[in-house]
Amino acid sequence: MDKIEQQLLQYVDDHKEEFIKFLGDLVKINSITGYEKKAQEFVRDRIKGYGFETELVEPDVKKMFEMFPEVAQVPSIGEEGLDMPLMTEDKFTYEQLMASPYDRLKSYKDRPNLIGKLKGKGGGKSLIINGHIDTVPVGDRSKWTHDPFGSDIKDGYLYGRGAVDMKGGVAAMVGAVEALTAIKAPLAGDLMFQTVVNEEHAGGGALGNIAAGYKADAAIVAEPSGPGGNVILNGNGGGVYWEVRIKGHETHAGSRWQNNKPFGISAIEKAALVVDSLISLEKGLNKDKTMMSLCIGTIKGGTYATATAAECVINGVAYFSPDLGTGKDGIVKVKKMLKDAALNVDDAWLRANPPVIKFQHYDDAYMLPADKQEIKRFTEDAIRDVLGKEPVITQLGGGCDARHFGNQGGIPAIVYGPGDIKMAHSTDECINLDDYIKGIKVLAVTIYRWCK
Ligand SMILES: [Zn+2]
Repeated sequence: MDKIEQQLLQYVDDHKEEFIKFLGDLVKINSITGYEKKAQEFVRDRIKGYGFETELVEPDVKKMFEMFPEVAQVPSIGEEGLDMPLMTEDKFTYEQLMASPYDRLKSYKDRPNLIGKLKGKGGGKSLIINGHIDTVPVGDRSKWTHDPFGSDIKDGYLYGRGAVDMKGGVAAMVGAVEALTAIKAPLAGDLMFQTVVNEEHAGGGALGNIAAGYKADAAIVAEPSGPGGNVILNGNGGGVYWEVRIKGHETHAGSRWQNNKPFGISAIEKAALVVDSLISLEKGLNKDKTMMSLCIGTIKGGTYATATAAECVINGVAYFSPDLGTGKDGIVKVKKMLKDAALNVDDAWLRANPPVIKFQHYDDAYMLPADKQEIKRFTEDAIRDVLGKEPVITQLGGGCDARHFGNQGGIPAIVYGPGDIKMAHSTDECINLDDYIKGIKVLAVTIYRWCK
């Protein structure tokens, strides 16, 4: 550890209470997906004070769909019914979105990303540090034992919606850049600070920054990578949200059989065959390693006990490993697999009345390329030196914004940030404050070493 690094750690130790207060103040600002602006202004005002050149930029939806047609998602809002309302048989298009009745989802009006630039003195490597400012909704308020916007502290944990996912990470980024600028750590490379909107449900904030052309030699996404401060995620799984609609032939129970043949066909009995086919796909893929986790989420069908069901609708999600394919290739492949499994069922009725499969949302999977490991190595070394622990490398099961930096931006990206992802999206969401302070230290040292 050089002198500057020791000063950074000392600065963080001397300002722990202020850093915890800042995190508490940020959690108190409700920034549920769709309502991010106030929290963005709060963070902007803070980093402006450290000498960052700041800008609030609304992501350009049209440009995202033009540049990344297989990956771009509909902007979403974290309220029931507006969450992910569009369905598509192939992929979403900007024209579909514009023709839809969902006016509030057609742009990122009043939902800006925050961009903060700190110019290096030249000749060094550049870095993006990124976090999302939006949070999932509160859910059932009556189940919370802490105010979701109260930032209560108890037994070393701070409670509130977004505490760990990921206002802890955003506040750790703020803490790290405060420490770096306060002690005037000399940086040669440019540092870009980004907080983005709509990570939850869509990823349109980070993809908007890629479409806008912001570049760097590497990116660190400060999502909670694991408890203890020594976990790095070098990839994430993908996800495809699907719906299958199956037709039946509605008749009264009394006329179900005619001439020794079924005449009334319940869509529900046919849905069972489709479910079997989807589950066989999953089983076949997972013989040696878990490649897909297929969740049959909901099933709805039928009207009366005495009538064969005219329709049955099944909803679910398929999470998939980066080994099945990263970027747009993985999405295209998994959508095709699901479509084939839902449509190729050996049944005369289903062949004559093929089910319709549609997609509601899809995230691409990501792996840090084998020949672009430098940012991971820098973070591993910082973990060893700051915490005296061996780093643990793993991947996130679901999607996160690192995918857009890596897959669409071509920027080597890892996830490193404070806290345990298991606490995310839950009732009484909380972050361990020791993890938070460790995260600030490791981030500060990593940024300094990368950019110096
Ligand atoms: Zn998150």
